[in-house]
Amino acid sequence: MPDTLHTDIAVIGAGTAGTSAFHEIRRAGHSALLIDHGPLGTTCARAGCMPSKAVLHAAHRWSVLRDFLGRQPAPSSASADALWREALALRDTLADGAAKRTREAAGDALLLGSARFVAPDALDVDGRRVRARAFVVATGSRPVVPPFLRELGAAVLTTDSLFQRDRLPRSVGIVGAGAVGLEMAVALSRLGVRVVAADRKDAPAGIADPAIGQRAAQRFREEFTLWLGQPVQVEADPSGAAIRCGADSELVEVVLAALGREPNVHGLDLAASGATTDAQGRFAADPATLRLPGSSLFLAGDVHPDRPLMHEAADEGVIAARGALSLLDGQPARVPARRTPLGIVFTDPDICNVGMSFDRLDPESTVIGTAEGSGNGRSRILHAESSLVRVYARRGDGLLLGAALMAVHGEHLAHLLAWAVQRGETARSLLEMPYYHPVVEEMLQSALKDAARQLDTDTDTARGNR
Ligand SMILES: Cc1cc2nc3c(=O)[nH]c(=O)nc-3n(C[C@H](O)[C@H](O)[C@H](O)COP(=O)(O)OP(=O)(O)OC[C@H]3O[C@@H](n4cnc5c(N)ncnc54)[C@H](O)[C@@H]3O)c2cc1C
Repeated sequence: MPDTLHTDIAVIGAGTAGTSAFHEIRRAGHSALLIDHGPLGTTCARAGCMPSKAVLHAAHRWSVLRDFLGRQPAPSSASADALWREALALRDTLADGAAKRTREAAGDALLLGSARFVAPDALDVDGRRVRARAFVVATGSRPVVPPFLRELGAAVLTTDSLFQRDRLPRSVGIVGAGAVGLEMAVALSRLGVRVVAADRKDAPAGIADPAIGQRAAQRFREEFTLWLGQPVQVEADPSGAAIRCGADSELVEVVLAALGREPNVHGLDLAASGATTDAQGRFAADPATLRLPGSSLFLAGDVHPDRPLMHEAADEGVIAARGALSLLDGQPARVPARRTPLGIVFTDPDICNVGMSFDRLDPESTVIGTAEGSGNGRSRILHAESSLVRVYARRGDGLLLGAALMAVHGEHLAHLLAWAVQRGETARSLLEMPYYHPVVEEMLQSALKDAARQLDTDTDTARGNR
């Protein structure tokens, strides 16, 4: 390979966003290089979506077995550690498959190495020069580990290092009970690990709707210690660490930092690309085009931290690629519309957010239809009486704005709702759809009926006032 490589667009990062961008550029008939320092296989498959869901499933299997056996010992062939390892072996298969697909799709256009800007049109990749007319930066993110946790040394884990372990710890303090922290708290506690999860926010899983937040806190406190609404402190202890939240304190073997993720821009030397920073000194991309001001760089995926989800990373890869292509062609970019926001926390019962979140609703112009799991036959059969569905509809025409819910099989309800919001359905039009019996979807029907009743009352009141 020559020392200087020339390409139309260089894509840095072969994760979900980068590979999506690479394919879009190739489809448009332009040349692209896909650069990654490895390991290949995407964060989603290697350390994110897939291992987390695989260990949640292992935890489900173990908790069903333990419920069934009661105090009797489990058969010698079964152990929580064995199920954990089985889940991670499945992760390895999936991640290796993703890495293989990337290698095959990119072929000679895959360049392994660490990229760093040295000029507005040039990168250094481990000593090799790459010149391009535009760049997609899709370098992902890394777990945030603040200094007070770093001081714990080996006793502090992130999801990256947790999924490298082949044995479960006896106890864990989870700092941060957002989506990732809560999923790991549920998985580990169902696998028999003593869990203490703590967050300074009042609600777990980053949920904005206070009714769902309260219900979720109540529900998961049945399974593990969950401290909310107070600053969290952690100190080293000979047995591992002491975790504190307000007046509460416990000793744990390890601590899991689940405080969110930060963009992987360290080491890229973005300043050399000509990109300019905002008033806070940050490299912030235009949210619509994903372009970094002053440069020919487009950010995609978790490196642009607005929507840190796998399907959003794939969409952003396309948006960034089209932006980069528009610089080459001199044509305006054909930017695809963003999808209805959808967030799912796979905690069984799942916690989900769809469309407009509660904190953005105008209370004067919104009705909230509610349904309880205790009123839904299927949820009662599935021991999920604590389920709660809240749908948000616009006063007047009943346009569905969004929803928040905690429900068994909530992932499916959330999809139906997201599709309905994106299609512009109303509370009344959704009630014309079929609902089988007995299904969890009947909770959605009940919540919509509740919203429709409130909309009808509004109409009656308006008529009475005339
Ligand atoms: C525990 C956990 C659970 C999650 N669960 C879900 C879920 O259930 N559903 C969901 O939608 N999302 C989930 N996510 C989020 C999802 O995994 C991410 O949004 C998605 O993987 C981001 O993809 P990406 O392409 O932006 O980054 P990545 O897949 O991380 O790709 C970035 C790539 O850039 C490379 N790179 C970085 N810097 C350089 C450099 N300087 N030079 C060369 N290469 C470089 C890296 O090697 C990497 O391959 C989860 C995340 C975590 C951590």
